[in-house]
Amino acid sequence: MAKGWTSLHPFQEQRLRAIGLNGNQITQGYGYAMASAGSHAPVGAKDGRQFGHCIDLSISYAPNRPHFDALARAGFCPFYRNWPGNYHWHVVDVAWIRNDTGIAPRHLDLPRRQVLDFLATPPRNGLVGHDALPSAWRPTEAQQAYLRRLWETGAMPDGYATPDPILKVIYPPNAGAAGVIPCAPELVNGKLRGNLAEFAEALGFEVVWNAAQRKGYVRKP
Ligand SMILES: [Zn+2]
Repeated sequence: MAKGWTSLHPFQEQRLRAIGLNGNQITQGYGYAMASAGSHAPVGAKDGRQFGHCIDLSISYAPNRPHFDALARAGFCPFYRNWPGNYHWHVVDVAWIRNDTGIAPRHLDLPRRQVLDFLATPPRNGLVGHDALPSAWRPTEAQQAYLRRLWETGAMPDGYATPDPILKVIYPPNAGAAGVIPCAPELVNGKLRGNLAEFAEALGFEVVWNAAQRKGYVRKP
């Protein structure tokens, strides 16, 4: 299985470095370990690296509450796996990390259910039985609310700016570069916005502005 910083998305590396981790403590990024039941499978590529939403950390990043809190603030659901012979942190990234084309791939089903477990009342452990987390390793309600906002809106973790997405609107869908509509698309909280006039005209409509009514119309020419 892949480990170290190169097994992570660069934005995951950035956030984990900022809370004091080093590359040797990344014991699994993307990967296919049987014990992980597919939760670490990659979902995309960024800057020559594959990435997924699950990361395993060595307990040399000590399993304590300050580290739990730091991971949560950085946008991760930290699950401490208190498994004799295999003590580790399994953390699930809730942030909308983007691939090379500016799209944030969806979470695989297993990590998605782990996030929902972490945000449940009471918080649950993300394992097959979905047992309640032991009290020492439960997120607070405030931590749940914070992570839920990132999860649902695509907002970046505190202290991080939203990256500029590299988006293209292409029509017809198979037109490739020749079909790029220069409508300045951007993703804002998961919704696509752009210049309506450029978009409508590329589809064969025309855009008219009624100055008296201060309204614009899109119509068939
Ligand atoms: Zn794991």
